[in-house]
Formats: sequence, C-alpha cells, structure tokens
Amino acid sequence: MIGIDIGGTSIKGLAVDENGVILGQSRIATNASQGKDHIIEKMGVTIRTLLEQHPDAEAIGIGTAGRVNTSTGQVVYATENLPGWQGFNIKEWVKSEFRLPVAVDNDANTALLGEQWQGAGEDLSDIVMLTLGTGVGGANMIGGELVRGAHWNGGEWGHVVLIPDGHPCNCGLQGCIEQYLSGTALVRLASVATGHAYPSGQEVLADLQRGNPEIIEVIERYVFHLALVLHNLHIGINPEAIVLGGGLIDAKELWWDGMMAQLKDMNTPEIDIRPALLGNQAGAIGAAKLACSLLPDSWIK
Ligand SMILES: [Zn+2]
Repeated sequence: MIGIDIGGTSIKGLAVDENGVILGQSRIATNASQGKDHIIEKMGVTIRTLLEQHPDAEAIGIGTAGRVNTSTGQVVYATENLPGWQGFNIKEWVKSEFRLPVAVDNDANTALLGEQWQGAGEDLSDIVMLTLGTGVGGANMIGGELVRGAHWNGGEWGHVVLIPDGHPCNCGLQGCIEQYLSGTALVRLASVATGHAYPSGQEVLADLQRGNPEIIEVIERYVFHLALVLHNLHIGINPEAIVLGGGLIDAKELWWDGMMAQLKDMNTPEIDIRPALLGNQAGAIGAAKLACSLLPDSWIK
C-alpha cells in the first residue's frame, strides 16, 4: 500500500504492508507557493518513487490538507496554504496517472486512522483527535468509523470559535481555536506579550524553560484554552480518548501537567487524553490504511 500525506510544507509518502509495517519512504518539500501544478507534480514524483521501489503495491491512499469529498476524491475546500487545491479532483488525477485504486481524505482524518491502526488509539473505536501544529486539525471517529459530516468538515475543531471577536482567522471568522492553540498562534501570543519577535515555537519554549514570567503567563493561558477545548470535546462527543498530535506534542513535558491540572480544576469526569505516537508519519500511515480499505476484506487487518 502507498500512503501519501500532502501538507503546505512537505509531501510525505510511505510504502506500508497490510500489517502496518513501513517498507519505504519518500519526502519532498511542497513549495506550495509555486502553485497547483507544482504541487501535483511533487505529489506525482512522490508516488512514482515509492511505486518504483514497491511495484507490487495494490492501492494508493492520500491525506491532504483541506476538506475532501471522499466519495468523489475532490477537494471541496482548501486555504491558500495549498493554492489552487480547492476544486481539484485528486482521486481522478492519481487514478489516471497510476492505474491503481485510490482513496482520498482530509489529513487529520488520515492521522486519526493511522493512530488508531498503529499508534495511541490502537485499542479504541471512539476517538477525537486534535493536531496542534502550524494549524489545528481535528477528526472524530465513532464506532471505528470516521465521522466526516454532511459537508465534509466534520471534526474541523480548529475553526470552532473559542474567543468571540478574537484574532482574525484565514477562514474568515474571528477567534477560532486555531488562532489560540496552533504553534503559529503560540509564537504570535508570545511575541505580543514580550514585544520580542520569536522566529518559532522552539524559542518560545526555550524562554519558558528559562523561567521568563511573561512566557509562563502565555503558556498558562494556552493550557487553560486547551483544557477548555478538551473539556468541551469530552462532554460533547464523549470519546474513549482524545489523542493530541502535531509539533507541540514534541515538547509536551513543558505543558502537559499544566493542562491536566486545568482539567482537574474543571472537574472533567473520566477524561483520557493521550499523546499521539506516530509523529509526522501518522497521516501517511493512515492514508495507507485508507488504501487497505479499497482491497477485498481479507486484506484488512
Ligand atoms: Zn478559522
């Protein structure tokens, strides 16, 4: 199986067997600003590279940023992180290019599929996932099935409003969760609080470790907002667990206890929060799982 994960920064591809064992990988910069044709070309190169190494692969699964009509394989909504992506039918293009069965889904959905197959949610069937990275992605699984919604935006927790009239979001709303809980947001909030333009989240977290009181306050506010979102997800969906992924998980030792303390203060009953285990491979592993679903039942483990 080939699993591809298309993001604004990079396109990651894996060859994975039907048991989830990774057989090969390929990664390439998206250089999304060069436009749609460039992204398509890079996606094609990634798939071709893996197929040359693993010519027996029987299906291709693709996770991409944006909202995807999984019946047709068309991207029904995408931001300018992937210019021209909205309206593009990935499934048709890949199918005609490589003559294999193709399945396409949103990248947070494939990340959740991956974590449920080989990672933090292996023993579970009711899971909510949040990815705290450049943006905030989200996905819901109930009874072992992804809940994509009537208009393919099910699980888009990143664009649920947290702060009315808050910071403007690239979706057109104000105060979305993504504007307070993404890595990008953390850098912005830290820069505003200190008057120092932080180049990335790493420098913010380094200042947290140095005990910068302004940054400690920013992180306290951050974990309060995160705990509030987790509380609401737990009460509203009541999954067996909420899996947290994305780049901010790499530094979880700096904020996880604070988040759990906030949840304790909120008296959130029986909440199970788990860090994702597959890192930035979750999306491609889940995309390979999606590809498995295209094959006869005997292949699905
Ligand atoms: Zn938004």
